[in-house]
Amino acid sequence: MNTILIGIIVGIVLVFFLSLIKKDDKLAHLGINLSRIYCPNCNEKQPIVRKPNSQRQALYGGHTCRKCGTEMDKYGEEIIE
Ligand SMILES: [Zn+2]
Repeated sequence: MNTILIGIIVGIVLVFFLSLIKKDDKLAHLGINLSRIYCPNCNEKQPIVRKPNSQRQALYGGHTCRKCGTEMDKYGEEIIE
């Protein structure tokens, strides 16, 4: 029982610290962005629940704009490949 409680607390603390990681940080790909992002191209608001359509998006987050198809990372920065 105590183990479960400790696990939950560790999880909350971990999420808290990960959400503090800023996009310029070298650990940025591990960070969690809790705020809504907008397409850098057409300003379309991106949904909170994302459907990853590439391995990178599944691993590190990011969106593909459903309006114009621009790929962006979880901080709303356009990804140019
Ligand atoms: Zn767009």
